[in-house]
Amino acid sequence: METLKVIAGPCSAESKEQLRQVVSALANTPQVSMIRAGVWKPRTRPGGFDGIGEPALRWMHELSEEYGVRFCCEVARTEHVELCQRYDIEDVWLGARTTANPFMVEELCAALRGSTMRVMVKNPLNPDVRLWLGAIERLTQSNIEVSAAIHRGFSMYDNRGYRNEPLWEVPIELHRRMPELPLLCDPSHIAGQADLVSSVAHAAMMLYFDGLMVEVHPSPADALTDAHQQLTPGQLLAMIKELSHKVERNDTDATGNVAMLREKIDEVDNELLQLLSRRMGLSRQMAEVKRSQQMSVYQPKRWDELLYDRMAKADTLALDKEFIKEIFEKIHGESVRVQMGG
Ligand code: PEP
Ligand code: MN
Repeated sequence: METLKVIAGPCSAESKEQLRQVVSALANTPQVSMIRAGVWKPRTRPGGFDGIGEPALRWMHELSEEYGVRFCCEVARTEHVELCQRYDIEDVWLGARTTANPFMVEELCAALRGSTMRVMVKNPLNPDVRLWLGAIERLTQSNIEVSAAIHRGFSMYDNRGYRNEPLWEVPIELHRRMPELPLLCDPSHIAGQADLVSSVAHAAMMLYFDGLMVEVHPSPADALTDAHQQLTPGQLLAMIKELSHKVERNDTDATGNVAMLREKIDEVDNELLQLLSRRMGLSRQMAEVKRSQQMSVYQPKRWDELLYDRMAKADTLALDKEFIKEIFEKIHGESVRVQMGG
């Protein structure tokens, strides 16, 4: 098995001593390939601690010489890139708020062009894979090396237990479109609380991620930012040990039961496609009938009854009601589009 790659370090660099404690605890762990530390912090509301700035880069530079470790940090402005270059920080990332903003990405492309810096790109705040792809493409078109995409979850109106919803289908789609690009998961910003970090990290490993970016602080409760979600170095090392035991990947070829089940799944998927095709054929016939009888395409009462009926049936078939609701909303939406002559 390939070794797990982990980038770990505090949400924010706070003091040289704090950084030293993290680095000295992690410097000899082969899985830890880089130390992260936020130097400029994007705060949602004004008035909070917004990062140490240049002095933190000096500490990082000194500690990297002393311990032989690589550091990385977030950049959001031209000045940040220039300062990183001054202190030999070769690896940086674009934060979620920056990826979502094409103007900022363009500005950073201009600042990074011609340098040897490697850039990681976090997903945008909202679950839009095109924005994520767009930021990566802007960088690569400027001949800037994109070393990884980082999945940190999505900010939703009604988060269900996580700080940022994982919506795994989005990074899976990014991976489908850019299979060569390493994909890291940031379980800290997804989980939002330390006791959930490990289960999110496990999920990521089962979904083919290449590694993790984890927030680690020598004394999480005293952290100036993201105090709830940071692990101690000891907790991180325990998690790495557990993950290395559990993630034994052997995905080279599908034989035996996997191949047999895949054949059956292919058969069922083909049946589903045939059924959907039949259903849309009926919608087209319905369009004719409604037109001739001057009925409107959308019939709220019928739609309400249909949805209620399908969700009730889902229950008796041990299917998740919300999942079936989403599927029928899609089917009904397509049926309406077809009947409107789309
Ligand atoms: C961070 O990594 O500390 C951070 C601010 O992340 P994000 O851009 O994912 O919110
Ligand atoms: Mn953070």
